[in-house]
Amino acid sequence: MTRSTTVVVGASVAGVRVAQTLRRRGHDGPVILLEREPGNPYDKPALSKTVLVQDELPSALGTATELAEENIDFRAGTAVDGLDLVARQILIHGEEPVPFAQLVITTGSRPRRLSQFDGLRGVHYLRTRTDAAALRAAFIRGGRVVVIGGGFIGGEVAASARSLGLPVTIVEAAPRLLARLMPTEVSEVVAGLHRDHGVKVICGRTVTGYRGGSDIEAIELDDGTVLPTGIVVIGIGTVPDTAWLEGSGLRIDNGILCGPNLAAEATDGVFVAGDVARWHDPTTGFYDRAEHWTSARDQAAVVAHNLIADGPPKHFATDGYVWSDQFGVSIQHVGRTGPGLRTERRPTKVGRGQLFVHLSGGHVVGATTFDAPSDLLAVRRDLASR
Ligand SMILES: Cc1cc2nc3c(=O)[nH]c(=O)nc-3n(C[C@H](O)[C@H](O)[C@H](O)COP(=O)(O)OP(=O)(O)OC[C@H]3O[C@@H](n4cnc5c(N)ncnc54)[C@H](O)[C@@H]3O)c2cc1C
Repeated sequence: MTRSTTVVVGASVAGVRVAQTLRRRGHDGPVILLEREPGNPYDKPALSKTVLVQDELPSALGTATELAEENIDFRAGTAVDGLDLVARQILIHGEEPVPFAQLVITTGSRPRRLSQFDGLRGVHYLRTRTDAAALRAAFIRGGRVVVIGGGFIGGEVAASARSLGLPVTIVEAAPRLLARLMPTEVSEVVAGLHRDHGVKVICGRTVTGYRGGSDIEAIELDDGTVLPTGIVVIGIGTVPDTAWLEGSGLRIDNGILCGPNLAAEATDGVFVAGDVARWHDPTTGFYDRAEHWTSARDQAAVVAHNLIADGPPKHFATDGYVWSDQFGVSIQHVGRTGPGLRTERRPTKVGRGQLFVHLSGGHVVGATTFDAPSDLLAVRRDLASR
């Protein structure tokens, strides 16, 4: 190791972008990029969309050859087991520790599990390309699909299954779809979209059990409903991938706690980006964690800057942009939603699609659009200009 070795753990959008940005900004110290999965790094958003519907691979974030050409030492199939902050080493079972001068943690998140379904055939989670391939194979074989969880990923999986002609039911414990993220007005449009395409949407019901032996045969709900199914997809959110950091001394509480500059708290030269980061937002006084592609990309840029630039560190700020595609409808969101805000439907500029604005004290603080990208962009620009 030279004194300047930067190790990045996790090669998805955040990790790859950090490594590439360091190089593109002229950093010439050694950069080692460690990744648990084999193969080339890839992007995840297509996994619940086109990858399930067509014979399509997720888009690569760079091949091993391209990364090597940028002098990034990419090591696929390397699951990191631990972090020794005192010796400044990354620990890998059965291998020599990897020393670092600077460390970037970009290990993302993994699906929250329903342990009662562990080991049952026909039950799926969706996070990796292997998960997507298994789910697509199940869709091709056919059968009734039950999606547990009515968030963005659940909605996308349901739309993909339905577009392949499969009977689909979404079961959501909250009283409406997207309840954690969106106001009622938006949830209703999304639920309507699904119902219009033949998806059965059941909200306000929890899963209490299942029927079947080693294969899933049916899902039982708390009102006694039994939903026969051979394919269950569980999409009930994610948890930050921090198990490997247990005992490391890092401050972890639903993500790695870091400052607005994305430096891990109480450390020196350790940065965090992407789904695993829970940063302190000085404008609200709270910690926040995002599970969106754009945040991961933007955090990577901030971290790369703060690793190499002289002068004051950059702070991460987000406009909360997120997108989803369901039944060919482009859903986009920017800004805030939440308690105390009012949502209003407004006419769109080009007459098609739908625009909802979210208001605080009469001021637009966010917007959600359905097939109205120019309206979304207008609000996004307006928010950025304030
Ligand atoms: C199916 C799906 C659809 C999505 N669709 C959208 C969308 O439409 N819009 C949107 O905004 N966002 C979407 N997202 C979310 C978006 O993809 C994530 O926010 C983004 O991938 C986060 O990137 P990341 O680099 O922080 O972490 P991740 O993408 O989670 O990657 C973390 C990487 O770290 C590796 N890793 C973890 N632990 C270790 C370890 N111990 N050792 C070595 N490597 C390790 C993992 O293998 C993984 O490659 C979607 C996510 C999924 C799963």
